[in-house]
Amino acid sequence: MNEHVSSALADTVDAEPYEPRYELGADELRALYRTEARATRRGEARPGLWIAVAIYLLFSATDLLLIPDVAAYTITARFAVGLSALLILEAQLRHGVGTEWLDVTCAGAIIFGYVGWLCPAIMGADKESVSYYMVFGTIFMMSANLFFTFNFKLSIVTSTIILCILYIVNYFVPSTLIYKMVFGAFYVSCFTFTSYVNWKLNEERYNVFLNALEAKIQHNEATERGKALLRLSRTDPLTGLENRRAIDEKLRDYWNDWQKVGTSFGAILIDVDFFKKFNDCYGHQEGDRCLIHVANALSDMIKQYNGSIGRYGGEEFIVLARMEKKEQILDIAEAICSTVENLALTHELRRDGVSIVTVSVGAAFTRTQTGAKLEKIIHEADRALYLAKAGGRNCARLFDPTDPQSSDESENIAALLKIAIGQNLVSLVYQPIQDVKSDRVEAVEALMRLKMLDGTSVPPSLFIPVAERTGAILELGRWAIRTVCAELLADDHVRVVSVNVSPIQLKTPGFATSVATILGETGVAGSRLAFEITEGLEMEMHSDILRCISDLKLLGIKIWLDDFGTGFAGLSWLRLIDFDTVKIDRSFLHDCSSPSGKAMLQDIITLVRNRGHKILVEGVETDEQMALMREFGIDKIQGFHVGRPAPAVSFQAKRAMRKRPFAVLKSA
Ligand code: C2E
Ligand code: MG
Ligand code: MG
Repeated sequence: MNEHVSSALADTVDAEPYEPRYELGADELRALYRTEARATRRGEARPGLWIAVAIYLLFSATDLLLIPDVAAYTITARFAVGLSALLILEAQLRHGVGTEWLDVTCAGAIIFGYVGWLCPAIMGADKESVSYYMVFGTIFMMSANLFFTFNFKLSIVTSTIILCILYIVNYFVPSTLIYKMVFGAFYVSCFTFTSYVNWKLNEERYNVFLNALEAKIQHNEATERGKALLRLSRTDPLTGLENRRAIDEKLRDYWNDWQKVGTSFGAILIDVDFFKKFNDCYGHQEGDRCLIHVANALSDMIKQYNGSIGRYGGEEFIVLARMEKKEQILDIAEAICSTVENLALTHELRRDGVSIVTVSVGAAFTRTQTGAKLEKIIHEADRALYLAKAGGRNCARLFDPTDPQSSDESENIAALLKIAIGQNLVSLVYQPIQDVKSDRVEAVEALMRLKMLDGTSVPPSLFIPVAERTGAILELGRWAIRTVCAELLADDHVRVVSVNVSPIQLKTPGFATSVATILGETGVAGSRLAFEITEGLEMEMHSDILRCISDLKLLGIKIWLDDFGTGFAGLSWLRLIDFDTVKIDRSFLHDCSSPSGKAMLQDIITLVRNRGHKILVEGVETDEQMALMREFGIDKIQGFHVGRPAPAVSFQAKRAMRKRPFAVLKSA
């Protein structure tokens, strides 16, 4: 078996445990053993021969003692053979000759060492001493078998040559027959015994090799199994990217590097736009495939920036990358958007005019004010992502600390909203809505107000988006409906109250049920409520939203479309939902001073009227605007001309005044 095959076998031993392991046959195992043994022998050849030569030369002393008359020759022979053997071996090592040739050199050194000493020794005058001294020949036999680790055949050949020489010399050296018989038998015994021990030793070495091999395989398997388990626990099974746990650890490393040595980095959150819709339309399998495509494309793209990518949640990915300037992170964020866009994965049923899969991207960069908490950078990227979605999606935003939605003020508001209901910081004011034909206030719109602990009021344009982003809107929304029912509707102060409802509330499971509970508890009929829906950030027309709206309608609640004309998908909303009333945004009325603005308003009115919805125009502030509304035949109006938002008590008082005579009569 050649070296090439042996190295292939060695690779087999290191093979992954989960690949079916090649079972090694006896021949292959032997071949592998020989390869390993060869390597060991190669390492041992030099020290072995040097030690052997040193001992061989030391025996010069016994030459001087036992055969002094020929000692000069034997010693010269010893030096000649010893030094030649060493020189040859060193030259061979230098030229990198095969291990077999090193063995042959050592074996040759044994034979020539023996012959080189023996020839001058037998010339000695004292034949008795020579005959006794010859016994030392067995040492050469032993060293061939036991001192050097030649392969078995070479050991046998070497020791057989020595045995033969011993016999020849024994035959010719003058001695008694008894001597010849005894030493002849001794030589054979020595040969047999050392060869046998050598053979046993070789077998033992092979067994040790097998045990070590088995242990190595088991160790490799255990290590690989451990590694595979670790990989599994850190990998997202769908996309093969790192999972949240792994990426969180990486984030910690990046963060520590930044804190300790100031290596700045960026965090990028990526959200697949309208993914829920994609799943609804094409099914979950297609949805999975879409995520895999996006993941593969992004992980290929991120390599050039030396960043890490992971799956952070359902359709959300995260990228971490070290960089020096924050402009670089925006480049990556934009490259992410275009990478996904270039995939051109069809997504035809999204309602924003785009028909392919896109992503919204929010990025944040380490900055001195990021503070000591590592979650902060993710939080900032999340805010940027929110703004990217608000900006129409398929775009990238970098967290901007000067943006009001990103400011610490917004953080304070988020904290304030948590305690707002408990601390009575939130309240409702009501703005009258007038019926144009009857000139009567038929309804009021509930508008939420928030004040800080020191009494300063926070405008809805600031706190409503924060409440939507943090989810506080859910509790606040329920609170508003309950308050409207209790303050105005339960005691018949007003006929109808419209309440602004965020799409986030509509898509939260159980919203319609919670409204039904409130109606039941306060004893108010659903027909007394109208819900105003604005296409906010969550304008994706969720099937959950449609289901919720139909449940609310079953309760008798009217659904109004608020701020019509300013949203992103207004017309498709009109097509999907049968709104009772459409509120035309005040900007259209305020543009009416120009003929084109007036024509625009007229067109919108025609469009809405043709679809059979009642029309309410917002922002009526002047007599002229009022007259225009009559001219256009609008159903309802709202604005400072009719009345400014006022607390519940002002509506309760009016009703009370109107009710009083009736009440007096009744009590009488
Ligand atoms: P909106 O629902 O369109 O409410 C009408 C806004 O226009 C109110 O502002 C109101 O004060 C203002 N307004 C009314 N008449 C006039 C007018 O003649 N001229 C001008 N210039 N403005 C007028 P407000 O109270 O600041 O509310 C702003 C927005 O905040 C609301 O717009 C609504 O989208 C949101 N909002 C208010 N309360 C709630 C709530 O309870 N829940 C939710 N989800 N959103 C709310
Ligand atoms: Mg409104
Ligand atoms: Mg409005």
